[in-house]
Amino acid sequence: MEYEAVIGLEVHTQLLTETKIFCGCSTKFGAEPNSQTCPVCLGMPGTLPVLNKKVVEYAVLLGLATHSQIRRNNRFARKNYFYPDLPKGYQISQFEEPICENGYVEIETDNGKKRIGLIRIHMEEDAGKSVHNEDYVGENETLIDLNRCGTPLLEIVSEPDLRSPAEAVAYLSKLRQLVRYLGISDGNMEEGSFRCDANISVRPKGQREFGTRTELKNMNSFSHVQKALEFEIERQINLLKNGQKVEQETLLWDVQKNEARPMRGKEESHDYRYFPEPDLVPVSIDMPWFEAIRSTLPELPDEKSARFKEQYELPDYDIAILTESRDMADYFEQVAEYFKNYKMISNWVLGEVSRVLNETKISIRDFPVSAQRLSELLTAIEKKIISTSAAKKVFDYLLKNDHTVDQAIDKLGLKQISDSSAIETFVEQIIRENPSEVEAYRNGKTKVIGFLVGQVMRVSKGKANPQVVNRLLRKKLEE
Ligand code: ADP
Ligand code: MG
Ligand code: ZN
Repeated sequence: MEYEAVIGLEVHTQLLTETKIFCGCSTKFGAEPNSQTCPVCLGMPGTLPVLNKKVVEYAVLLGLATHSQIRRNNRFARKNYFYPDLPKGYQISQFEEPICENGYVEIETDNGKKRIGLIRIHMEEDAGKSVHNEDYVGENETLIDLNRCGTPLLEIVSEPDLRSPAEAVAYLSKLRQLVRYLGISDGNMEEGSFRCDANISVRPKGQREFGTRTELKNMNSFSHVQKALEFEIERQINLLKNGQKVEQETLLWDVQKNEARPMRGKEESHDYRYFPEPDLVPVSIDMPWFEAIRSTLPELPDEKSARFKEQYELPDYDIAILTESRDMADYFEQVAEYFKNYKMISNWVLGEVSRVLNETKISIRDFPVSAQRLSELLTAIEKKIISTSAAKKVFDYLLKNDHTVDQAIDKLGLKQISDSSAIETFVEQIIRENPSEVEAYRNGKTKVIGFLVGQVMRVSKGKANPQVVNRLLRKKLEE
């Protein structure tokens, strides 16, 4: 029997607001433990939360970007549970009336485009962090850092529409790309600002009903998600094949051992006793505010790639990479303002520029070769002032030196020689030095021309214009 996986993801994305969701404490990452706290986020009796307007705006932006229905009148709810990193004993979240519902995200699969439904997107506060790190604490001790308490989150809950680990990863990448385009989250999985829990079940292919699901937590990179899902799907299929049942439970992914283990204690089949948050008035987004938010919506990835295809006529592969981030797309477009061979720009951005970005981990925003300078460099190639291989040397030079392209070419002595009389001298020298290849050419083995061109390029130190070399060589050999 063949089985099929069914996956639904719950993603928490931390918002890039200056302050927390219900108080004025800073959200900056990496501060001294417990230094960014106040009576409100510490859950002191008698304090009252005040909603951060930015959080609502960011939720609306994500709702619009995911084609969701936006509930302009929504409200917060209390989710009650006890845990040491939650001083109030409840989390302020949304339950019955979330801000967004029924959206979708489109992903690319092996069988074309596929829509992944979104059940809901809601606003909530994050909890603190328990520190078990042995560098700070003894074996049976735990420390608590409440800086993260009250950090604004959006929770995005997908329909169980995903059918494989690859689809889950494609969905996550798309969602992360969206929040980054919107500028509402840095989407950094390693630092925990983009987290994902996965619900997984399997069923015989063709069966309509879903199987019993487990929930996998604690995956903090795309490759963990991929591996964890593969592991869990295989485990469930093996259970069913052996006539056993899948238990509904929460599992933790163990990165070291590459296995999922049942989680002990915490929120196992919890009754959260949700009720409307009495300390906050319902959220009401009037039309002027709603329209003001909508007007800040940037061009989104799908629109941008469609426009790139139309405007620059590039292959899909190139477009996918160029529009991966807004900054990358902006860089490309700035070069394209001055230089009109778009495919050539794309080759350079995907080639040299990306190589340096990967090696140095700098962001394209801080790239040392500005878009204008790259356009000058490409123009120099096109005008045959330098060869492509010389241009690569100029590019490497410009990474380290704030010079103009002309200055760099001069400095490196790379100006291409197109003047035939200068090249003729080199050609004659090579014909003299390689009598047997010349003979072979004249006897019909014209392929040796490649070797001879190479030799001329070598003695010219790469500066001869290869087309001129080719033309002169042929002329001389056929004389
Ligand atoms: P809960 O509130 O208990 O977490 P939800 O109904 O809100 O449950 O669903 C949470 C997630 O689980 C959603 O992303 C949903 O798509 C997914 N899900 C629900 N049923 C299944 C199933 N049988 N197999 C896989 N995923 C599922
Ligand atoms: Mg859940
Ligand atoms: Zn605070």
